[in-house]
Amino acid sequence: MPDKYVFFFGEGEADGRADMKNLLGGKGANLAEMTNLGLPVPAGFTISTDVCTYYYQHQDTYPDGLKQSVQEALEKVEKVMGSKFGDAENPLLVSVRSGARASMPGMMDTVLNLGLNDQTVQGLINKTNNPRFSYDCYRRFVNMYGDVVMGLRPESKDDTDPFEEILEKKKEKHGIKYDTDLTTDDLKELVAEYKEAIQKHAGKPFPEDPMEQLWGAIGAVFGSWMNERAKVYRKLNNIPEEWGTAVNVQSMVYGNMGDDSGTGVAFTRDPATGAKELYGEFLMNAQGEDVVAGIRTPLQIEKLNEIMPNVYKQFEEISGTLEKHYHEMQDMEFTIQQGRLWMLQTRAGKRTGFAAFRIAVNMVEEGLISKEEALLRVQPDQLNQLLRPIFDLDQKRSAIDENRLLAKGLNAGPGAANGKVVFNAPDAVEWKAKGEKVILVRIETSPEDIKGMDASEGILTARGGMTSHAALVARQMGKVCVAGAGDLQISYKKREFNVNGNTVKEGDWISIDGTTGEIIKGHLDTKPSEVLQVVIDKSLNPEESQTYHTYQQIMKWADECRRLKVRTNADQPDQAETAIAFGAQGIGLCRTEHMFFGGERIDAVREMIVSDESEGRRKALAKLLPMQKEDFIGIFKAMGNRPVTIRTLDPPLHEFLPHSDEDLEKLAKKLDVSLEKLKTRVEALHEFNPMLGHRGCRLGIAYPEITEMQAQAILEAACEVKKDGVDVKPEIMIPLVAHVNELRRQEKLVRDVAKKVFKKYEIEVDYLVGTMIEIPRAAVTADEIASVAEFFSFGTNDLTQTTFGMSRDDSGSFLPYYVDQDILPRDPFQSIDQGGVGKLMEWGVERGRKERSGLKVGICGEHGGDPSSVEFCHSIGLDYVSCSPFRVPIARLAAAQAALKELQKES
Ligand code: PEP
Ligand code: MG
Repeated sequence: MPDKYVFFFGEGEADGRADMKNLLGGKGANLAEMTNLGLPVPAGFTISTDVCTYYYQHQDTYPDGLKQSVQEALEKVEKVMGSKFGDAENPLLVSVRSGARASMPGMMDTVLNLGLNDQTVQGLINKTNNPRFSYDCYRRFVNMYGDVVMGLRPESKDDTDPFEEILEKKKEKHGIKYDTDLTTDDLKELVAEYKEAIQKHAGKPFPEDPMEQLWGAIGAVFGSWMNERAKVYRKLNNIPEEWGTAVNVQSMVYGNMGDDSGTGVAFTRDPATGAKELYGEFLMNAQGEDVVAGIRTPLQIEKLNEIMPNVYKQFEEISGTLEKHYHEMQDMEFTIQQGRLWMLQTRAGKRTGFAAFRIAVNMVEEGLISKEEALLRVQPDQLNQLLRPIFDLDQKRSAIDENRLLAKGLNAGPGAANGKVVFNAPDAVEWKAKGEKVILVRIETSPEDIKGMDASEGILTARGGMTSHAALVARQMGKVCVAGAGDLQISYKKREFNVNGNTVKEGDWISIDGTTGEIIKGHLDTKPSEVLQVVIDKSLNPEESQTYHTYQQIMKWADECRRLKVRTNADQPDQAETAIAFGAQGIGLCRTEHMFFGGERIDAVREMIVSDESEGRRKALAKLLPMQKEDFIGIFKAMGNRPVTIRTLDPPLHEFLPHSDEDLEKLAKKLDVSLEKLKTRVEALHEFNPMLGHRGCRLGIAYPEITEMQAQAILEAACEVKKDGVDVKPEIMIPLVAHVNELRRQEKLVRDVAKKVFKKYEIEVDYLVGTMIEIPRAAVTADEIASVAEFFSFGTNDLTQTTFGMSRDDSGSFLPYYVDQDILPRDPFQSIDQGGVGKLMEWGVERGRKERSGLKVGICGEHGGDPSSVEFCHSIGLDYVSCSPFRVPIARLAAAQAALKELQKES
């Protein structure tokens, strides 16, 4: 075991440093760093995450020697602060807070004002000459201690909070609205009543001994690492349970000591837009939780310049120092105690996707960080926010003209969302499961609500500022959020809210604009983001869009760094065009069956399927040929000289057939066959397990004329487009191959057709014949397969399905449970199962390239757009990933990050 568990900081010297986050948690490491930088930090100490690990491994006990170390550190703090813990004359009071390696805002517990009891409160009165303030601290402390340590905090949304009830009664009795109107006597009475409530609910008294209080709070903070909301948060944010939390014990400073005191939170840049300006909120005469809880609406940070210009100036300087020191946007907490500024926390600030990208780009332009650092700072998935929809402006304008603008709140999480109103998190989860789009409307949110927030399209709250829980969490989740819309009168009981004479009930549609803070009655259509308006619609001038500037800068740098190519999965020319606008370098998968549904094609397809002999099929296929050829011409033209991988028919045939009696009758008429004959044929095509049935190359083997028609359509289209001067690069891909002989047969068919086509057109086109690797046997025998295949493309949807033996269509009934229970770390259909499916891929690449050096290998399963899977594909040496058009930018960035991380590892 390590020999040091407790790390002191105070008066310009600290045992810890910023790079000791794993041991001290983010908060502890940064308090140490700020102390070392000479910034004003109240003295304290951090109990390391090792102790948390020990605590859970040893039935909630502490390592030997910890008590002694805490005692020693406490004495040091006493010395620095010139007061004594538990002293009746001159008491030292402390805060006890959690602090994990990764920030988990509000998920774990905190106790403030610790050390107060009936004796020490007198000492505080003597020191401050302020009995009201002292009793206010005392009643807050008993309340928090009761909630956090003694278990009085209500567990469900229907339970009442005993302290809240007592406080409300007291305010009612005296006819007052704000806590600040309570008198010293009221507060004194509250302390006594709170203690009675503790005795009643917990069955034991509130501990008067400060040492007992301290250890109670330390235990509660360690205990809160395993509370439900912390677990849910960790799961959502991929934070491992083993990390544990540290505990920070720090001298209290007070922002509620009168009108020359205050407290606030601020970011060095705007966390919503990324603009370079100090951004934050504060409250005079208040404690930290007042700002975050959103009970009083805070003031904008610039106002501090009017109230206390010197403090504002000092704070501005400190925030500049911190940003330069960390080379990162900081989120800071501060307290002003009787005119003196104290820094309580600094950490990398959470931000929207918009802000993350803009800050990264601006910091490169300011010379603060390198392009590579900028690329690694942003999360590929956050690009979604730049590509997110906005409301149709005309519709919005007319909605406002029609007086449908209900109110305005804070623009806490940008983007446009519409949905049906629900008033609590469990309902949000339930409605979403039923397929509804919902907007979660709450007076304010709390950590218990995160599942519901996750299930909602957007979040709307009546209370709280830009740093309230709702705002922070929504931004991190990338959710649209309007917070602090104070005009909303929400009644949870009636399941409605009233606002400026309107009533909106549960289930009514509303639309919220998280970029402007507007709340609009009814459903507004959404419109593409600015990036889309520039790159796709071409309706916006690139110079006019900050968002586009940011996007294209990041994409440019990403393209300079990445090795992996990025293609797209597209089967229509317009999809191909969108993907090219997003930077796609080719088509990695064109699913030809998607072309079978358009216009009159389905009739010809059905005619082909129901004919039970080759001749009939050929006749129907001849009708399809010109249509498929037209499709391919469109795609080749859109893609120019980029490679286009086209897959031959894959799904089981009955997917194309009608099933209801009515539809069957219609088809029988159309095809001029008897209903009976048609029904017999449809029944014959029925399969118990179609995913493992007659599909993929098995179709082309049983019905070679299908492959022949498709090859002919592809190659004739290629010849025609090439004649127009385009250097087309078709790649014909055979699906679901398990044995090399399957591929051999299909390849021969394709090559025979090619010869005929080239002769007919008197022109040749370079084309490849390759295969999908989507059956474990294909991966295992990749060398044999590569003796025929000129390229591989991993179909990781099927490869995952067949490797796990888990139906991709039916896994919804058990897979979420598997992930919830940690049986599987992530849904393997979303993110490649690297230990299993990934091993097969590695094997496939290695064996394939051994047989055919330089074999081109890509991926076209859904994983091709998942950032961690992209990183994996880079690591096993794939040539490209292919994903849906909107994920192309995400994959480009993920590919750059993979390359940069590899470089970092090497150096
Ligand atoms: C795959 O299986 O990964 C694939 C891309 O093919 P499909 O999803 O069409 O089966
Ligand atoms: Mg497949």
